[in-house]
Amino acid sequence: MNDLLTDEERSLQDSVRRFMLQEVEPLVPKMEADGEPPRSLFKRFAEFGFLGTFFSEEDGGSGGSLATRAIVSEETARVCAGLDLVLFADVVLFGRALMRCGTPAQKEKYLRPVLAGEKIGAMAITEPGGGSDALSPSTTAKADGSGFVLKGQKTWITNAPIADFVLVIARTGEGRSRLDGGTWFIVERGMPGFTTGKPFDKLGMRSSPTGEVFLDDVQLRKEHVLGEVGQGFRSLVDSLDTERVLVGASTVGQAQGCLDEAVRYANEREVFGEMIRDYQLIQEKIANMATGIEMSRSMLYRLLRAIDRGERVTREAAILKFFSSQMLTQSSSDMVQIWGGAGQLEANKTARFYRDGKHHEIGAGTNEIMKVLIARETYKEMGYRR
Ligand SMILES: Cc1cc2nc3c(=O)[nH]c(=O)nc-3n(C[C@H](O)[C@H](O)[C@H](O)COP(=O)(O)OP(=O)(O)OC[C@H]3O[C@@H](n4cnc5c(N)ncnc54)[C@H](O)[C@@H]3O)c2cc1C
Repeated sequence: MNDLLTDEERSLQDSVRRFMLQEVEPLVPKMEADGEPPRSLFKRFAEFGFLGTFFSEEDGGSGGSLATRAIVSEETARVCAGLDLVLFADVVLFGRALMRCGTPAQKEKYLRPVLAGEKIGAMAITEPGGGSDALSPSTTAKADGSGFVLKGQKTWITNAPIADFVLVIARTGEGRSRLDGGTWFIVERGMPGFTTGKPFDKLGMRSSPTGEVFLDDVQLRKEHVLGEVGQGFRSLVDSLDTERVLVGASTVGQAQGCLDEAVRYANEREVFGEMIRDYQLIQEKIANMATGIEMSRSMLYRLLRAIDRGERVTREAAILKFFSSQMLTQSSSDMVQIWGGAGQLEANKTARFYRDGKHHEIGAGTNEIMKVLIARETYKEMGYRR
C-alpha cells in the first residue's frame, strides 16, 4: 500500500533512495570518523534538487509540498541519521525561518546560498542553563544606535562548528506575556565577537557536528534582525509544530533503516538448524517494528497535508514526535537483539543505528516536554481550560 504520496512524490522518493545508496552510503564511515559531512555533499544534494524541495522557486527551491522534505529526510535518515540531522538544521531550522520571516534582501543573501549548498546554516536556541525552557534565554541584544550588541552563549547547536550563518534568539526586552521580548538575529561567521567551540564527542549522530556558540558583544545592524523586534518567541513557538512533524520523518527513516537490517539478517542467519526468521520471538520484534513504522508514517503524512492546508496540529505533532521517537529507540534495540553479538560490531551499521536511535527522544523538545504538551492540549481540546 502506498497511497500516502503522489506519483511525483514517489518518483522523488526513488531518486533520493538511489542517490543515498550510490553516492552517500560509501561516504558514511568517513563522515562518522571526521564528525561532519564533506562540504561537496551539500552541493550534490542541491544539484539533485534535494535541498530546496519545498521552498518556492523565487527563493531558490522547487516549489514542492512539505511532504517532499519528509521524503528526503526519511531516505537520508535511513542511510545516515547524522547527515539527516545536519540537513534538518540547515534547511528546516535555518532555511525555513528565512523563508517565513526573511526580507527579499535577506533571502537573497542567506537563503539562496544555503539552498544552493554553498553555505551552511544553523539555529541557536539552547543555552547552558537548560534547553527545555526555550523562552527564557540569558543571551541579550541591547539596542546600540541603529543596531544591537549581542552577548551570551548557546550550546548543543547542530552545525555550529561548520555553519556560515547562525540564527540566534536573544532577549531584547520584557513584556506582559512570556512570548514578548525575544528577537532573532542572523550572525555570520567572521563577525568580531562570534566564535564556536570544538565539536562535542557524542554518543551518536557522529556525522553531525554539534557545539557551542559564543557571542561576545557582536555588533549587529538592523538588516541582521530576522522578523520583527520583540516577536521572536512567537515566531519560535509558531514554527515548532512543523519542526516536530518533520522530526517524525527522521524517526521513521531511521526506524526503517533498522527494519531493513533486522529483516536482512533474520533471513540470512541459521541457528539450531533453522533460519532465525522462523522463530516467533524474532517475528514478534519484526512485527512490532513494522507496526510502529507504519503507524508513525501514516500520521506523518496526514499531518504534513494538514499543515499544508493551514491547520493547527500542536497536539498531534507532539504525539507523533513522542510516539515515533520511542518506537525508534525500541526498534534500534530490537534490531541489535536480532543480530546477537554481531549487532555490536562497529563493522556492521547496526552499532551506529543503535547509538543514533536515542537522539530524537531528546532533541527538538524532550519526550517529557512532549507529554506535558499532549496532556495540556488534550485538556484544552476536551474543554477543560485554565
Ligand atoms: C545532538 C543534539 C543536537 C541539538 N541541536 C540543537 C540545535 O541545533 N539548536 C538548538 O537550539 N538546540 C539543539 N539541541 C538541544 C536540544 O533541543 C536540548 O538538548 C533539549 O531541548 C533538552 O534540553 P537540555 O538538554 O538542556 O535538557 P534539560 O532542559 O536540562 O532537561 C533535563 C531533563 O529534565 C526534563 N525536564 C525539563 N523540564 C521538564 C518539565 N517541565 N517536566 C518534566 N521534565 C522536564 C527533560 O525532559 C530532561 O529529561 C540539540 C541537542 C542534541 C542532543
